[in-house]
Amino acid sequence: MAPTPKECDYLVIGGGSGGLASGRRASAMYGAKTIAIESKRLGGTCVNVGCVPKKVTWNAAAIAETFKDSKAYGFNYDNLSFDWNTFKTKRDAYVKRLNGIYERNLGNDKVEYIHGFASFVDKNTVEVKLDDGGKEQVKAKHVLIAVGGHPTLPNIPGKELCIDSDGFFDIDQQPKKVAVVGAGYIGVEMSGMLHALGTETHFFIRGDKVLRSFDPIIQDTVTKEYERVGVNLHKQGQITKVEDLGNGKKRVTYTEAGKENLVLEDVDVVLFAVGRSPEIEKLGLENLGGVKLDERKHIVVDDFQNTSIDNVYALGDVCNKGFELTPVAIAAGRRLSDRIFGGQKDSRLEYENIPSVVFAHPEVGSVGLTEPEAREKYGDSVKVYKTSFTAMYYAMMEPEHKGPTAMKVVCEGPNERVVGLHLVGQGVGEMLQGFGVAVRMGATKADFDRCVAIHPTSAEELVTLK
Ligand code: FAD
Ligand code: NDP
Repeated sequence: MAPTPKECDYLVIGGGSGGLASGRRASAMYGAKTIAIESKRLGGTCVNVGCVPKKVTWNAAAIAETFKDSKAYGFNYDNLSFDWNTFKTKRDAYVKRLNGIYERNLGNDKVEYIHGFASFVDKNTVEVKLDDGGKEQVKAKHVLIAVGGHPTLPNIPGKELCIDSDGFFDIDQQPKKVAVVGAGYIGVEMSGMLHALGTETHFFIRGDKVLRSFDPIIQDTVTKEYERVGVNLHKQGQITKVEDLGNGKKRVTYTEAGKENLVLEDVDVVLFAVGRSPEIEKLGLENLGGVKLDERKHIVVDDFQNTSIDNVYALGDVCNKGFELTPVAIAAGRRLSDRIFGGQKDSRLEYENIPSVVFAHPEVGSVGLTEPEAREKYGDSVKVYKTSFTAMYYAMMEPEHKGPTAMKVVCEGPNERVVGLHLVGQGVGEMLQGFGVAVRMGATKADFDRCVAIHPTSAEELVTLK
């Protein structure tokens, strides 16, 4: 006889950022009986193979850059070296600690945690494949799908010799030479980190600029800067074949700006970062009776994270809202629980003016509309203020060692409401959060100007733009 299913008010599938935030809120604040199911490691993409180990690696890369710059300030040192393996071991241990903290937090908030793989039996019932080979069923009034996504690899000969961003975090010795493909967040971040840490980095982008979904000031500044610092940028570049040379080395055949069959020898790592797909393949969605998906297989949700099936919700990377960011998944999750269990019937995440940072070299920060988007939406009422300059940090350096800073404020209407802010330069990641609040509140250019500058900083330029 099959065991009796467990019953709960709220079943959360996926123990990543969004699922955990929603489940903990439902249980701790509203007393909903909540069960969370995770098939791999608590914390999901962000903690295990995303934001957290990425930012720690970015910090290492920033330290390497600071060491390089320090000579211009009069520092001298011999035999500087970086031990990738020691660094990786410590980074892994940090992530493991976080996994434990996440598990304890679930316990503190009285969320029952099941480690296993969930798939739908019907819209209120999920079957969980447990680690010991057993199965158990859970029934719930409300079910949240927060299963995130996974990286995709293109179908080229030698695909099995390549890695994706998950594989980046498994690299245990510093590669001497790498090929990175993909002009988005991950490609830009990982090629930047590898280069800064001293790896010969070949960066393949299929257009002429990186970060093509960002404002042109960002595309232009980052593309130029990567070329200036010596990342080998292969524009209009596509890898067509990867072959094993033995000893872990690979031969990469590629095209570049009309030239074909070019070859890179002795590459240690070929890393594709060309986008991610929702993790829905084995979720049994067919048993839900026609849940709506978009053309890229994201689950379609309305403004309140409702799917097309009653009492089944989706959020984070698996849904079709177009923002694959941890704080977006968390905010959507908390607001959803406030609505379902906290009686706040209008509670929802507003998917606009969401700030994000690309941990490039230097950092990129962006919120709101790009200039082309604003012109399309508001026509001639758009006014743009921009500046580019050399931050004081570079004052001690020779001209060829000075990095860029660029800023653009996009305004709309007679009051010059700020509808977009686009920044590249040292420290803009930290800078953007506060300016994000101002943009969210509907700040105008005059509000920016009324704020007294903080000197000497780069941020002061944003409140003194002419
Ligand atoms: P996830 O965090 O992916 O969690 C989903 C969880 O569901 C996973 O743990 C998975 O194992 C589990 N799961 C899947 N299917 C099942 C199933 N059937 N049964 C049980 N469990 C299941 N965002 C930022 O904001 N800042 C950054 O700096 C940043 N850096 C990133 C760097 C990289 C390399 C990557 C890949 C992503 C980065 N992101 C960053 C994006 C961010 O990680 C995601 O947007 C975020 O993790 C999405 O959260 P989620 O809850 O939707 O999904
Ligand atoms: P992105 O969507 O950011 O970028 C992928 C890029 O790859 C595309 O923009 C496209 O650029 C290029 N591309 C697509 N297909 C191919 C192909 N077949 N060959 C070559 N290039 C191709 O995805 P990522 O994988 O970089 O990251 C996934 C998401 O994770 C991001 O969108 C972001 O939301 C999140 N993330 C957030 C971070 C942060 O907040 N700092 C960091 C990392 C990830 P083009 O059209 O120009 O060729």
